[in-house]
Amino acid sequence: MYRNSQDAFRKRGSGRNNKKYTVKDTVKDTAKNTAKNIAKNTAKDTAVNTEKDTAEVTAEKSSLCRVSNRCGGCAYLNIPYEEQLKKKEDYVRRMTGGSRKVQPVEGMADPYHYRCKVTAAFQQHRDGRIVSGIYEEGTHHVISVSSCMIENAKADEIIGTIRHLIPSFRIRVYNEDTGFGLLRHVLIRVGRQSGQILVVLVVASPVFPSKNNFVRALREKHPEITSVVLNINDRRTSMVLGSRNITIYGKGYIEDTLCGKTFRISPSSFFQVNPVQTELLYRKAIDLAELSGTEKVFDAYSGIGTIGIIAAAEAREVISVELNRDAVRDAVINARQNKVDNITFYAEDAGDFLEKMAASGEHADVIFMDPPRTGSTEKFMRAAAAIRPSRIVYISCEPETLGRDLVFFRKLGYRAGDIWPLDMFPFTKNVEAVVKLQRAKG
Ligand code: SAH
Repeated sequence: MYRNSQDAFRKRGSGRNNKKYTVKDTVKDTAKNTAKNIAKNTAKDTAVNTEKDTAEVTAEKSSLCRVSNRCGGCAYLNIPYEEQLKKKEDYVRRMTGGSRKVQPVEGMADPYHYRCKVTAAFQQHRDGRIVSGIYEEGTHHVISVSSCMIENAKADEIIGTIRHLIPSFRIRVYNEDTGFGLLRHVLIRVGRQSGQILVVLVVASPVFPSKNNFVRALREKHPEITSVVLNINDRRTSMVLGSRNITIYGKGYIEDTLCGKTFRISPSSFFQVNPVQTELLYRKAIDLAELSGTEKVFDAYSGIGTIGIIAAAEAREVISVELNRDAVRDAVINARQNKVDNITFYAEDAGDFLEKMAASGEHADVIFMDPPRTGSTEKFMRAAAAIRPSRIVYISCEPETLGRDLVFFRKLGYRAGDIWPLDMFPFTKNVEAVVKLQRAKG
């Protein structure tokens, strides 16, 4: 249920906003809000590979999913899992020029129901029926989906309950054409290890009728829900989330544990959707960095601080940079809660930030970089090379932009080692990969 759902990642005024956030600081959101939505498909976990293979998409006839033809998310639905992994390996090899060794894709033992973040669009059809599910590929028509083989099953159940509750609470579903109505989407985040569940009701206005009774009715059915948030999205946009959150039950976020550290995840912060594979991914990235406890490390595109916080125990110092201010706020709290005090966070464009670091003669031993699907920028890569790390660990969710960036890094004197792909999104075409680049001697 994610084909057309876009998270509201917000682009902040970059450069001007070089505020340093230390673990001890309380984050103050003083920066001028020059927010602009990043174009569709920047959100790492929402887009589907643009490479289209119509034969596969249309070859439905599978009992695994009755809407696959119209959803378009699981392009590999009818392909045996081992074969899916092979196809992904070949794709990574093609996109990275074939000159490096591509290791076999690390797959999942159980490739079903892995998505811990689930989004459903709500719509009232002409016959009065209220449906929740996904947008039919390329349209604004919502197809009803009550369960999905890659989504967390509990999340799907909760969405079904909300669909059944809304008529009795006289909650109107938002109408995209007229702009009337209230409920637009429901987003659910589930903590795999913590069991915490956050329900985000994306609404066009903050006035939600009988909200306390609604929460009560919802929790009666699902006592495992730990928080409910209203997210206000009053704009005519295809982005799922608006910028304002009002907590109506619980803490307003969930916590979950990855690689032994606990992370707070707010409604709009980026957090990998497949926690099982994310642990393997982070472990691989940190192992490739070969940290000895003495290094100065940069963690770029750091989200809620995950990689930096996990790596901090094996480094002297970590400096993290991330554009999304909400994510940085979570990151500061995450570091504090995990008692990590050798990490500093900056809310800024990673390229601008590194350029300034390079201009002031800063050096780093290791850089972790985990950019969105669009990859990195020449500005970032030039600045990264200028601070002369001996190794750069590049984590990519789009082999095409990874291939492009590896070519550029080579010109800057950084050579890629083996590529380690990992299956973060079974049944889709997406594939994640980690690679270590090393600075040529001299
Ligand atoms: N490393 C994190 C997040 C990776 S997703 C994790 O594993 O969870 C990519 C992140 O890059 C997102 O959090 C997004 O907000 C951030 N981002 C996108 N463009 C950016 C830019 N120009 N500068 C800094 N961060 C950026």
